[in-house]
Amino acid sequence: MSNDLVMPPADFLAKMSDLLEEEYHQFEQSYRQSSTTGLRVNTLKLSSSDFSTLSPFALKAVGAHEPDGFLVPDGSQPGSHPYHAAGLYYLQEPSAMVVGGLVAAQPGELVLDLAAAPGGKATHLAAQMRGRGLLVANDVHTSRARLLAENMTRWSATNALITSAEPDHLAAQFGSIFDRVLVDAPCSGEGMLRKLAFAGKREAFEWNEEVVLACSRRQTAVLHTAAHLVKPGGRLVYATCTFSPEENEVVVAQFLRDFPQFELIDPPRFAGFGVGRPSWVEASLADNSLQKCVRLWPHQFSGEGHFIAVMQHVGDEKPQRLVKPLKFIPPSKNELAVWQAFAQENLRFEVDEARLLLVNSRLYLLPEMALETGNLHLIRYGLLLGEIRKGHFRPDHALALVLTPEAAAQSVNFATDSDEIAAYWQGLDIPSGGPNGWLLVAVNGFVMGWGKCVNGRIKNHYPRGLRRNRDWRLENG
Ligand code: SAM
Repeated sequence: MSNDLVMPPADFLAKMSDLLEEEYHQFEQSYRQSSTTGLRVNTLKLSSSDFSTLSPFALKAVGAHEPDGFLVPDGSQPGSHPYHAAGLYYLQEPSAMVVGGLVAAQPGELVLDLAAAPGGKATHLAAQMRGRGLLVANDVHTSRARLLAENMTRWSATNALITSAEPDHLAAQFGSIFDRVLVDAPCSGEGMLRKLAFAGKREAFEWNEEVVLACSRRQTAVLHTAAHLVKPGGRLVYATCTFSPEENEVVVAQFLRDFPQFELIDPPRFAGFGVGRPSWVEASLADNSLQKCVRLWPHQFSGEGHFIAVMQHVGDEKPQRLVKPLKFIPPSKNELAVWQAFAQENLRFEVDEARLLLVNSRLYLLPEMALETGNLHLIRYGLLLGEIRKGHFRPDHALALVLTPEAAAQSVNFATDSDEIAAYWQGLDIPSGGPNGWLLVAVNGFVMGWGKCVNGRIKNHYPRGLRRNRDWRLENG
């Protein structure tokens, strides 16, 4: 963190001063305090209380609204710790955690995260769903959707379909079938200005009123398309990390005017949750129900700031179900036998073979609730088990991350700060006394990845793109 405090653009502060009036002073003061760093524990792997006992960082609970969220002190680097590589938590600033909490996805539901990369909210929804039902996580930008897939793999989400598609392509493929749809909209990012300001990154400020209005138009288009994906009785959540009314109350007010089958819900209010501001919307659109939106301000809530509107589809029409049942060709007898031989020799893990899908030699375990995807651009469907090459099975990193050490025939476990973990993370081989064959490498009981024991050495199978250039203990030191 730099001490060279740079204030956000003057035009932005002037706008906030006009809007916030006497409250502005406190808002402005928040730019003199450092931004918050948070993490959310992966409850697919361990409970928050178990993480609290083994956490290498001092943790401070973010509040009753998110029992799995914590603040970590300035200077701690949770992203450079082997527990991060093992998927024990996701780095997320505390106001972003509120969004997932208000979506409140349930196990067994059909849930869509329409603008999901890099995956902060999608990992939260996956934890809520506990591997049951289907989470469609989409991002229109393919490179970002790939990053999303990487984060969902680290999270060990097994019930996700990851796509890279325009929202209207999703609407045309699926219809109004989703129990919950999240639109975490691309926005002008005013809530990120404090982080940039505190880091002294003046050059990263791109704020101007034109950007705000362009974002507003795009948000309106995405939200209108999202309306066609929510089933009657379902929930639509709109969120941004920005403060301008044009991207928040105004987008929601126009949406409610155009889609009267949706109503705002008054969500549970926790300490520091502010209300929406109908007075910031032109009179013809203003409606007191806009107060039901949630505003998180950096001067009232320990976080960078967010806007959230939770809406319910109260129409009684029938869902427009466009999606067809999934038809897929299962692996051939020979391919299945290759998998079975690997599983029998190396795993203590049950797989429902009726859900196995082979695409270009890659073997996937589909989610229990799988949908036909037509021409959508797929990035990942369910759990990638591995690849069948020349009659041999090579397990994927994604499979390692859903396993516990006990779920493999062979595993090795090392202490967090051991030389072995440091070497493994760098992609180096490590000595071993075990028999030849595949094994899981774990850090303090949590799997980091695969290795293959060959004549007294563990050959490193940690993915090349995830390796560290140097010993992580030196990076943190
Ligand atoms: N939900 C994400 C998370 O929690 O990590 C953050 C999402 S970010 C605020 C907005 C995302 O919207 C970006 O990843 C961007 O690629 C995507 N996006 C931009 N234009 C879009 C569009 N027209 N439709 C859908 N997504 C879009």
